[in-house]
Parts: sequence; C-alpha cells; structure tokens
Amino acid sequence: MWHYASDMEALNDVLRLSRGMTYKAAISGLNLGGGKAVIIGDAKTLKTEALLRKFGRFVKNLNGKYITAEDVNMTTKDMEYIRMETKHVAGLPESMGGSGDPSPVTAYGTYMGMKAAAKKAFGSESLTGKTIGVQGVGHVGTYLLEHLQKEGAKLIVTDYYEDRAHEAAARFGATAVGLDEIYDQQMDIYSPCALGATLNDDTISRLKCQVVAGCANNQLEVENQHGPELVRRGIVYAPDFLINAGGLINVYSEVVGTSRQGALTQTEKIYDFTLQVLAKAEADGSHPQAAAIKQAKERIASVGKVKSTY
Ligand code: NAD
Repeated sequence: MWHYASDMEALNDVLRLSRGMTYKAAISGLNLGGGKAVIIGDAKTLKTEALLRKFGRFVKNLNGKYITAEDVNMTTKDMEYIRMETKHVAGLPESMGGSGDPSPVTAYGTYMGMKAAAKKAFGSESLTGKTIGVQGVGHVGTYLLEHLQKEGAKLIVTDYYEDRAHEAAARFGATAVGLDEIYDQQMDIYSPCALGATLNDDTISRLKCQVVAGCANNQLEVENQHGPELVRRGIVYAPDFLINAGGLINVYSEVVGTSRQGALTQTEKIYDFTLQVLAKAEADGSHPQAAAIKQAKERIASVGKVKSTY
C-alpha cells in the first residue's frame, strides 16, 4: 500500500513489480508465476478491516490465479482480514498455521546476497568494519540492521518517516541522515530497502560505494541503462529480485506446506547464487541484473510447459 502521483504511475509500478516477481520465482526454483497487487493510498489513514476484506473479495474472484501476501505497509494482521474473504492469501500469522511475517527471511537473504557482493568487490565476505547505508528502515530494513550490527558494520540510516530513522539510529548505534543525503555518504555499501528506482541518472553519479545490495524491488530505474552504468563505475550490484527472494521462498513454504527451516536453508543459498550470477555477468561482458534475468528466463523456457500441481 503506497501513495502514487497518478493511477498511471501505479499501474506501471504494478507491471514492473509483477515482472520482477516472475523472475524472482523462476531464479529461486519456485513453482510460481508472478503477480503483484497495489492498493493506492496512505496506509496510515486508509487501511481498515473493511478495505482489506474488499481487497480479499477481489482476490477471491481471481480463483487462485493470484495468491496475495505482505509487502510494503502490510502486516500479518492485514493478511488475517484478507483470509476472512479468500483462501488465496499467504503470509498468515503462525497462530493461524501460516508462515508468519516474511520480512526476517527476506532480510536474511538480502544479507547473504550482500555478503556475496562484498566477496566479489572486496575479496572477503566479511562486513565487519564496513560502512553500510540502509535506505528505509521498515520491516526488512530493521531485520537487516540486526544482522549488520551483529557483524560489526558501521551503519547509516534514513527513512521517509524521520522518527523511524531516529529510532533505528538509537537502537543500532547508527547515524541518521536526511532522505536525499544518503546518496552522498562515504560508504562501502549502499542498501536500498525502501521503494524502487533509486538507482537513476540523479543518484548513481553521487554514490561513492563499491557495492549496492538491498531488498527493495526494481532498484534500477532503467535496467539496461543503469545496470551497465554501475559496472562502468566499478560498483558491484547484487540483483534485487535474486537477493530479496527470501520472503517469497518463505510464503511459498506456506503454500506447499514445507517448514520455515527449509525456507531458511533455501534462502541461505542466495549467497552462492549471487556469486554465480556475478561471475556470469563478468564472463558475458554483461551486467548482473541482465545476467540474473537471463538465468530466470532460461528456467521459465525450460520448465514453462510442465504443468504445476499447485
Ligand atoms: P516497509 O513498508 O515495512 O518499509 C519500507 C520503509 O521505507 C518504510 O519505513 C518507509 O517509510 C520507507 N521509505 C519509503 N520511501 C522512502 C524513501 N524515499 N527514502 C527512505 N525511506 C523510504 O516495507 P518492507 O516490507 O520492509 O519492504 C521494503 C522493500 O523491500 C520494498 O521495496 C519491498 O517491495 C521489498 N521487499 C519486501 C519483502 C518483504 O518480505 N517484506 C520481500 C521482498 C521485497
């Protein structure tokens, strides 16, 4: 749930996000297609049981072609309301037999992807002593900060809601900076964990980092322009839909009835997958996002004709 300048902007975002979900499922070896729902509005004022149940009835009309789950500004409690109208919802609370909030698993996968990108850029996966700027300290950003603090990284944070940034700064011993200041920080790793398109013509030239690795969807504003631009500037980019797949892996475990531990084990493999994609991009003279999309498309082509049992 987010505010958009226009319906067209929202529609374009849904299309991009849906494509990203398709690639995310494919590259993670899941038996899912891709789709995304967006409710336009300010979650702080608009979100009610009635609205969520109305959305649940809409999802029900799709007869299982689309399964909804948490994302920006949504919680397990919201999924509970949606469940009152349709069974095609995942990310339900564990007390209801669901897989719970996917955010900790997304954060774990993002952390694994970040370590792999660090290995490529610095020759070591260790994040100890590295300065890492986290943009967006919501659900995933906060869990990611826990991992980074534990490993002894120096942290910089920012958030659209200033109070959240200050809370995170106090909790994790981080420095809070303004929304636009994050791009100018002297940092080793920039971690976009808010919304998409933050890697664009205005921001890339300001980045002083050697790695970009975050959980936000659609980080590159124009993939085939900003992906190569990062390569030209010697910045290692960990493909967004690859390293933020932990949450989807977790909700998939709920759909097919496997365990949280199984989801975590699969999510840990994001470290190896990221290293493989980065190596492939280099060997092909391509950029990491293109290499990841190519790999996802190859799987879609090879298993696309197999009928899923789910
Ligand atoms: P969230 O709503 O809990 O947190 C997002 C945070 O970003 C909020 O605190 C918000 O105030 C902040 N924000 C928004 N715009 C900002 C800006 N311009 N600058 C700084 N901060 C800004 O969402 P989340 O669940 O943590 O998801 C974060 C990102 O990760 C999203 O792009 C989401 O699509 C993606 N993602 C989330 C999951 C998951 O499991 N939750 C899985 C895969 C991908």
